[in-house]
Amino acid sequence: MKNNQGWNLKNTYTDLPEIFYEQVTPNPVRQPKLVIYNDELGASVGLNNEEMKGAEAVEIFAGNRVPTNSIPIAQSYAGHQFGHFTMLGDGRAMLIGEHITPDNERYDIQLKGAGKTPYSRGGDGRAALGPMLREYIISEAMHRLNIPTTRSLAVVTTGEMIQREIELEGAILTRVASSHIRVGTFQFAAKYGEIEELVKLADYTIERHDPDVMESPNPYLAFLQEVIRRQAQLIAKWQLVGFIHGVMNTDNMTISGETIDYGPCAFMDHYDPKTVFSSIDYNGRYAYQNQPGIASWNLARFAESLLPLLGRGKEEAVNNAQGAISEFSKLYRHHYYAGMRAKLGIMDEEAEDEKLIQDLLSMMQHYQVDYTNTFLALTYEDESNFPMGAMEDFKKWKTKWQERLSRQKQSKEESHELMRKSNPALIPRNRWVEEAIAAVVQNDDKTVMESLLAMLKNPYAHSDEQKEFAQRNYEIDEYQTFCG
Ligand code: AMP
Ligand code: MG
Ligand code: MG
Repeated sequence: MKNNQGWNLKNTYTDLPEIFYEQVTPNPVRQPKLVIYNDELGASVGLNNEEMKGAEAVEIFAGNRVPTNSIPIAQSYAGHQFGHFTMLGDGRAMLIGEHITPDNERYDIQLKGAGKTPYSRGGDGRAALGPMLREYIISEAMHRLNIPTTRSLAVVTTGEMIQREIELEGAILTRVASSHIRVGTFQFAAKYGEIEELVKLADYTIERHDPDVMESPNPYLAFLQEVIRRQAQLIAKWQLVGFIHGVMNTDNMTISGETIDYGPCAFMDHYDPKTVFSSIDYNGRYAYQNQPGIASWNLARFAESLLPLLGRGKEEAVNNAQGAISEFSKLYRHHYYAGMRAKLGIMDEEAEDEKLIQDLLSMMQHYQVDYTNTFLALTYEDESNFPMGAMEDFKKWKTKWQERLSRQKQSKEESHELMRKSNPALIPRNRWVEEAIAAVVQNDDKTVMESLLAMLKNPYAHSDEQKEFAQRNYEIDEYQTFCG
């Protein structure tokens, strides 16, 4: 049944065995106020945007009311956090249901920051406005960069202060995701469930994300392979735009292949493979260069969780799991180098391409030049503001690159078109994101955030406005991020 705002909620997760969730009630807040609503997303999933901005809908975003047919739950999961296994679960997020769109697509609707759940441990179940806006801005930017991600429908403030190092304004983010099933959900099932419960979770997830694997002779192995394939593609996309997730714990890795959990993430400015922004990542476990390796490690934990389903007998299962995991690095490299070729306008494949790419990256690292802007200088054929342009080794590299382009049958114009489609005119730079958030949090001024979001809307358009915006100061020395 559809209610007047367009919500069309179903609850299939609650058909799973009880160990996978707890029913909860969102904790009402004093004075909800809508800060931002995502019109484009709302329309695309069949919501009524005008009503969504009305008082009744805002009560729903705040958890003060539940929409028709909602059965709010907190999901249980476990996970390896910085390599250490722990029991977790939604400590401050509540799934209010699965919204079915007019096109019959299913999306989880989750309120993040909606109060305590049975999994909150010592936490207050709440979130601060700054980090929720950060998730809104960066997840939206990722979507616009064509990178699979959970999305943000709305942020409301609660009218209540929360205690962190200082008092902060409380907020709730409405998150839209293909599902919130994580590697950690399977780890939880494998560790704390019976085999029947693991099977039910796997079957449920397959039905939701990979129904085609049912045709395969070994559906669970095919499912594992699909998850690996999606993650290899996802991580390559992160690397290609310089995105650093910051907290790639196994509970923050989805089965759907969507980027999730925008805490301490940030984009790299000057190219340095060791870049880490997160204030709690002391050893650089989740540094830029480690992301593919960590993804593979996380997927090995996923394969271990599925082991009882992967073969007739332990040995066959282990062989199957190892075979699947060993594919990750091949798939990742394939997507990464295909993406890099596209960034350089290369349309076919030569053995020497990888060296050409690595030579450019080495120079970028050596001269500490901006990653995004290097590709833009090449795309726009404009080196006037490009510090590496005058360097002899770069000039030699450029000659080689141009020779490489002239060896392919496609025209220079085609090459250029590909580069414009593969190199964003701008990314959500750290300074811009911080300024946009500060204007809202400190001065209740949304204009900075709105103009940033407008600029990030179509990063491959390369409009004059975007080019001008991209010239603004964007760096912050010694930038550090925090888990919101
Ligand atoms: P994260 O680092 O955001 O992936 O969160 C790790 C775990 O901590 C998850 O189980 C969260 O639900 C939980 N958590 C984070 N912040 C809070 C909070 N303020 N209150 C309760 N649980 C929290
Ligand atoms: Mg339960
Ligand atoms: Mg998390």
